[in-house]
Amino acid sequence: MTANVQTLVDKLVCENLKALVPYESARRLFAASDNNQDAQVPVWLNANESPFANEYSIDSDLLNRYPDCQPSAVIKPYASYAGVNNKQLLVSRGADEGIELLIRAFCTPGKDSILICPPTYGMYAISAETCNVGVDVALLKPDFSLDIEAIKTFKDKVNIVFICSPNNPTGTSVAPQQIEQVLNHFADSALVVVDEAYIEFDATCTFATKLAEYPNLVILRTLSKAFALAGIRCGFTLANEAIIHTLLKVIAPYPMPQPVAQIAEQALSAKGLALMTLQVETISDEKAKLKQALSNFPGIELVGDDKANFILFRSAQKQALMDFLVSHKMFIRDQSKQRNLANCLRITVGNVEQNQHLLSLIKQFFASQSNTGSPA
Ligand SMILES: *Cc1c(COP(=O)(O)O)cnc(C)c1O
Repeated sequence: MTANVQTLVDKLVCENLKALVPYESARRLFAASDNNQDAQVPVWLNANESPFANEYSIDSDLLNRYPDCQPSAVIKPYASYAGVNNKQLLVSRGADEGIELLIRAFCTPGKDSILICPPTYGMYAISAETCNVGVDVALLKPDFSLDIEAIKTFKDKVNIVFICSPNNPTGTSVAPQQIEQVLNHFADSALVVVDEAYIEFDATCTFATKLAEYPNLVILRTLSKAFALAGIRCGFTLANEAIIHTLLKVIAPYPMPQPVAQIAEQALSAKGLALMTLQVETISDEKAKLKQALSNFPGIELVGDDKANFILFRSAQKQALMDFLVSHKMFIRDQSKQRNLANCLRITVGNVEQNQHLLSLIKQFFASQSNTGSPA
């Protein structure tokens, strides 16, 4: 008798996974268009990646050995870059793994919950759901500031509060006084995680200098955005030593592949940091130009702020515009399913050429719309 695999899977799969579907990452959504034969080169402005691919070298002498769990060649320069001590830092497979480790270490499945403030980054809720941890919601206000009163009602109901600043996908930074209010309110009851994945684009806003002041503060960082290394999967969690110590209980024994550690070390050298700073400046200049150009289209309304490496906007013709761009292999990200972001699309700032190409396509799109007499 041949067993039916699907029947077996349905019988065995964790209860809390039954309703879930695999994460629709920006990359996965359009993977099918990748192996297209025609000449048009796809342009990826949908995942907030850097347009710059920098060069690194790999020494293969150590590849026969298991790597360090927390390689000091990465920990030391990042701690120094972030202004924390080595024991206040954990390196992991992207900030995404940091999110999951925090949930696994500090929330009991089937019992505890986290608090999120949408519209925001999707992985907090996804990680919680896969761990059978509850997700409570305090929506951002219409101006995308935190709804402090709503957040306060969750005291003793959640173990972790996730705050993203600069926030993906609104591009807004949370006022430091607001984050401090949350830290104080949950001082003896929950961790407050400030996700600083885009902090290099709004560097003065960091909370990394406040670990001594707030025992419940946790900060997430990554090499995926400003450092242009999304491909190596390297992120950091900054927190007081007791929190880091607890995360080490749940992290895999060898999370950092040797080549990843080598590349991260080079990216965090003085030369690597200087290059990152230069590229952040270039992206910021391009962002200002792109934003200016977009604001001139009557069919486009800019939404949120520009504190990261992307621009969010609303258009009544969102679907037609998206379809038009996809048909020209220009990939941006639909954010319209997020709370309070109806008809919103997000553009990652690319290089000069990519941004110009995008603008010319948007121009073509709106020109064709007015020619066919479609309503604005
Ligand atoms: C991209 C992103 C991350 C994930 O970073 P990785 O290090 O690539 O896992 C985390 N938080 C936010 C807000 C992001 O936009």
